[in-house]
Amino acid sequence: MSPFNSHRQVSRRLFQHSLLAVAFGGTGVLSYLHGQDQRTRSAGSSQSAGADARYGNEQRIDHSSVEDIPHRRERIRVTKFETFLVQPRWLFLKVHTDAGLVGWGEPIVEGRAKTCAAAVEEIGRYLIGKDPRDIVHHWQAMYRHAFYRGGPVLTSAISGIDQALWDIKGKALGIPVYELLGGPTRSRVRVYAHVKNDPELLKQRKSEGFRAFKTGVLNGTDAGMVASRQFIREAADNFAALREAGGDDVDIGIDFHGAITPQTAKLLIKALEPHQPLFIEEPIACQHVDLMAGIARGTHLPIATGERIFTKWGFREILEKGAATILQPDLCHAGGITECRLIAGMAEAYYAAIAPHNPLGPISLASGIQLAAAIPNFLCQEQVSLGEGYLKQPFVVKDGYVELPTAPGLGIEVDEAALQDKLGHDWINKQTFDRRDGSVLDW
Ligand SMILES: [Mg+2]
Repeated sequence: MSPFNSHRQVSRRLFQHSLLAVAFGGTGVLSYLHGQDQRTRSAGSSQSAGADARYGNEQRIDHSSVEDIPHRRERIRVTKFETFLVQPRWLFLKVHTDAGLVGWGEPIVEGRAKTCAAAVEEIGRYLIGKDPRDIVHHWQAMYRHAFYRGGPVLTSAISGIDQALWDIKGKALGIPVYELLGGPTRSRVRVYAHVKNDPELLKQRKSEGFRAFKTGVLNGTDAGMVASRQFIREAADNFAALREAGGDDVDIGIDFHGAITPQTAKLLIKALEPHQPLFIEEPIACQHVDLMAGIARGTHLPIATGERIFTKWGFREILEKGAATILQPDLCHAGGITECRLIAGMAEAYYAAIAPHNPLGPISLASGIQLAAAIPNFLCQEQVSLGEGYLKQPFVVKDGYVELPTAPGLGIEVDEAALQDKLGHDWINKQTFDRRDGSVLDW
């Protein structure tokens, strides 16, 4: 609705300007008028031509109700995008507006930070001069106008931009994002920590306030096509040691990282069943959904997946085929807050839970917490940083939970001064080869 309202205002101004141009007939006047319209017109002549095409549509649309919305009387325009490579491997985005409001996002897929920064620059051109509050409309435009849609890089770029737009909208209205999504569905948000197969680290994390954890498969790169009895026994024994260290009142998920073969996954899941992991994450690579569904049917343990699945269209097949009952969309990969909320709605219809994936930074965490606070089927939020050294007020964990933020937007304030000694990185993914024969491994 509002973009058309915006176009009408622009159209009026252009009409007024054309009258003035005819009256004065000088290029100096036209240049002055062009300068005046910089904030309300998209940059570049080609975008002006596109906008002109849409002015024609407004003749058929009644905008009266739109103009009655008070906050719409003062437009906000996106003026600039800034990206920051932030250690250890992140990419932060700061979206500026002419209202002085800024929004933050993390438009990154791990190991491709600079590629994502280029994608943000290309996609961001569309938003310059537009009102950042028309989030769903902009999501549709950024996604569908690409023609070649989706994939990790483009969807991650859109995800970070989407987070920043929600941040700006919340700040413009003075309320947290979860209020915009319908109000809180819970009073606090459960988070989990990584324990890296180490019982002592689990005890330490528990003493820090965590009550839910995740580990990997012990010596997972040694699994081979069909793991040995020794491998299965040692992996299961390691999980049993974690269970022993944490006790039966904590939850521990285990991540196969999609790096275990279907043959080995079945053996390993059977060995883990007596210790009741919270979930089995990516038991196999996620590209063959029917195979994962078969593994899900073969165990009573919940199967989780989602960090390498994008948009509602990717998660549709997972749900329809029963490949997982815990979805792990990444707020930085799957399409941002806008899309993950829709994925959560789809999941609810299948009685599936949402446990957002997040091995990234504090803006990603803040986005996940806002989503968790607004959906009914939330399970637990992954985190690797509560924001120490990045946020003016890092999140605090108590009894396994963080409190709902009350500040507007994403509820965080990035500490830009503290970022200065963390700028710049060239992080790439691990390049793993089988130590026995040199063949390529997934992890
Ligand atoms: Mg994982």
